[in-house]
Amino acid sequence: MTDYAIAPPPLTALPIAGSNALFPVRRVYCIGRNYAAHAIEMGHDPDREPPFFFQKNPDNLVTDGVFPYPPKTADVHHEVELAVMLKSGGRNIQVHDASTHIYGYALALDMTRRDLQGDMKKAGRPWEIGKAFEASAPVGPVHPVSATGLLSEGAVTLHVNGELRQEGDLNQLIWKVPEMISYLSEYFELAPGDVILSGTPAGVGPVVRGDVMEIAIAGLGSMSVRVA
Ligand code: MN
Repeated sequence: MTDYAIAPPPLTALPIAGSNALFPVRRVYCIGRNYAAHAIEMGHDPDREPPFFFQKNPDNLVTDGVFPYPPKTADVHHEVELAVMLKSGGRNIQVHDASTHIYGYALALDMTRRDLQGDMKKAGRPWEIGKAFEASAPVGPVHPVSATGLLSEGAVTLHVNGELRQEGDLNQLIWKVPEMISYLSEYFELAPGDVILSGTPAGVGPVVRGDVMEIAIAGLGSMSVRVA
């Protein structure tokens, strides 16, 4: 038996719809500005530029439907996103092969301390304090691609307290899921357990304690997350 100096940290593992097995998480990649209307609302050109990525931590993923309002911010925004779970990986994956690496999909939120992210953008500094904090990525159960088929279109919505705030369609992704996987694999060695958040449609905005966010993607059902 391995002798660890301290107790090893727990592995993040996500429930799988229709199964008692869990999906173990290795890394979490997030793509920025992947819907034209959201790029415009954030003050950027919607033209197809090379994608860019940042990371969250595996233990930032939470599945209990609760988002504790984080410290050091007064402007936490919701971003509803399709999460893509990989069952295999590699380097320099071709676009036409990329979908064979997908295990499944889940509903996800890329919660963002927008004020801190904005400060970091202005200063040319990394985004972690705006993006990669505790419970910053509420997710739903993983839906295996064997049940959903490959997702390339379908409505993406987010309501806050019953009011529609974000609305888009997976067919509006600037960089499609296979392109994202291929592009990422040129920079990183992808592996089983990796999760990719695919970007958010327009309509991002703040939440406050007590709000209930309801997120939905066609084919993946819906999920509510309460701001605590
Ligand atoms: Mn995002």
